[in-house]
Amino acid sequence: MLRIKASMYANGDVSQYVKDLIQKDRRPIPDIEAYCASCHTSTKMKAVSADEVFYVKDQAVNVREVPKYQCTQCGCVTTNVKLAAAIEEALEVRPSLLKSGTSLSFESLV
Ligand SMILES: [Zn+2]
Repeated sequence: MLRIKASMYANGDVSQYVKDLIQKDRRPIPDIEAYCASCHTSTKMKAVSADEVFYVKDQAVNVREVPKYQCTQCGCVTTNVKLAAAIEEALEVRPSLLKSGTSLSFESLV
């Protein structure tokens, strides 16, 4: 199916097809049911965004509006650890992002 779709939309170039899909994906982050490590309940976690500082190559980089989850019981905001690791990796492998200053938007990473 992937090769057929890539042939239809990207002249058979699978990686270009996937890249196009990623750039067009603007779905909102869904709320989830999860365990809150702060109030120790399984509850609804609401999708929110907040700024977060990442330390890459001895430089502090503030990334604005990083998707996070907020507990509907206690209000604690938690970080998606896998997403944070992916952001750190993106900042490390794309040094051009760091040249733009010490503050950048999450959207500029995706
Ligand atoms: Zn909580």
